[in-house]
Amino acid sequence: VKRDLATLVGREHDVLVIGGGIHGAFSAWDAAQRGLKTALVEAEDFGAGTSWNSLKTIHGGLRYLQTADLARMRESIRERRTLLRIAPALVRPLPFLVPTYGHGMKGREALAVALLVNDLVSADRNRGLPRERRIPAGRRLDRDELRALVPGIPAEGLTGGGLWVDAQVESSERLLIGVLHAAASEGAVLANHVRVVGIDVAAGRVGVVRVEDTRARAGFEVRARVVLNAAGPAMDEVLALAGATRAPVPLLRAVNLVLRRPVVTQCAVGALSAGRYLFLVPWAGRSMAGTHYVAPDAMPLAEQALGFLAELARAYPWAGLGPEDVSLVHSGRVPGRDSRHLTTRHRLIDHRREGLDGLVSVQGVKYTTARAVAEEAVDHLTLRLGRNCRGRTATTRLTRAVPLEGDLASRTRTAVHEEMALSLADAMLRRLDLGTAGPPAATDVDEVARVLSEELAWSPARVLAEREALAAVFAGAAL
Ligand SMILES: Cc1cc2nc3c(=O)[nH]c(=O)nc-3n(C[C@H](O)[C@H](O)[C@H](O)COP(=O)(O)OP(=O)(O)OC[C@H]3O[C@@H](n4cnc5c(N)ncnc54)[C@H](O)[C@@H]3O)c2cc1C
Repeated sequence: VKRDLATLVGREHDVLVIGGGIHGAFSAWDAAQRGLKTALVEAEDFGAGTSWNSLKTIHGGLRYLQTADLARMRESIRERRTLLRIAPALVRPLPFLVPTYGHGMKGREALAVALLVNDLVSADRNRGLPRERRIPAGRRLDRDELRALVPGIPAEGLTGGGLWVDAQVESSERLLIGVLHAAASEGAVLANHVRVVGIDVAAGRVGVVRVEDTRARAGFEVRARVVLNAAGPAMDEVLALAGATRAPVPLLRAVNLVLRRPVVTQCAVGALSAGRYLFLVPWAGRSMAGTHYVAPDAMPLAEQALGFLAELARAYPWAGLGPEDVSLVHSGRVPGRDSRHLTTRHRLIDHRREGLDGLVSVQGVKYTTARAVAEEAVDHLTLRLGRNCRGRTATTRLTRAVPLEGDLASRTRTAVHEEMALSLADAMLRRLDLGTAGPPAATDVDEVARVLSEELAWSPARVLAEREALAAVFAGAAL
């Protein structure tokens, strides 16, 4: 993954992808693999947007049973299986359990039926998977089994519970970088810290896309036959650059809390709160709790995070959660159906009818299904380009979707020379997995900063600025 701005501006691409989150990354890989001349520009760093905040659950879509949305459920099951197959070093099965209190529609019998239907709908969930990546059938737990798995859980009215297996991506950042390696190996031209600042439209067609290298503060023009807007929550801001006047998609602010302690260890544990399930998820020797949603202007982030912590403390009284447990607050904007409810459907919009021929937007709703959504988007682009080529990302192993190896100095050099880390935060947070669970050890920061300053010839003033920028990330994500 090399930053090649000369090729970015020097050729006409078939496809220019705007946004290097998980949807943009999968789109660039898919397009390049189909033989399209592909470029991707990312305003900040790859995966620094919404994709950085995920709870890391690769959902099989059990929740879609509530609305009998079997199509969504099938898509999630297929994509869970795909990720287990193409990124086996990072994606693993993870058991989930929910306790039941009482009987009937909200009790253990209803859950047992849901698990049974889940197994039937996902009968092919393990097709082609190696034994250690297979998802076993769900099962009912009796009261004692449940109490053994979740010591301290309130016993009054407890009738048992249900256990099913989903999956978890250990490092969503490394998975995304693995996708970019695959894209680059197929010839995609990728650049981080390059922001789209203007989209010129002439005679109803999108022409030149104006970009800025935000580190060098230099402007360029990029040409492409079609432009895919994969800017996530910034979709409408990018559309505005092209003069689009459509009504904006409502956004919600989603929050997770990363906890210092392994509050749960063997399984993720669900709890009903205000009519919806919260989950405590074991991850990287710690736990994460998610997810809480409000309209972004409803309250400040700190107030939302504290409110969510109070809700968690009520829902998991046995966990004894307090502010001292929180090492990091994840927050990202996700598309809503309206200003209160999440949408479960991705959007793929061809803006031709709005007088913006050559511009297509894709807005996904789950990390889990990003590959499939990208494939659908690229299917559409190939049609628009008059090309007939099918996607193969579902069956291509992501060989570089693995943790980096070697001592910290050599991993840092790999991050710089093979993975386009341009800042201390790029390297620490999204290449080396140091700081994804909270502020990293000072010795690690020192070592990574030392290697980066050597490799990138940073001045002492630059090193200081990079350290301050990294510290600011954690200051903004503290409780
Ligand atoms: C708290 C939280 C928890 C979640 N948990 C889960 C989970 O457990 N499982 C799951 O499947 N999903 C989960 N999700 C959803 C998932 O994270 C998102 O659906 C996914 O990451 C969105 O990816 P994206 O590529 O569409 O957007 P983003 O990751 O936001 O990427 C868009 C990119 O576009 C770039 N961009 C914006 N404007 C420009 C411009 N002008 N020029 C160039 N680039 C630009 C941005 O910098 C950004 O990097 C969660 C989301 C949140 C917020």
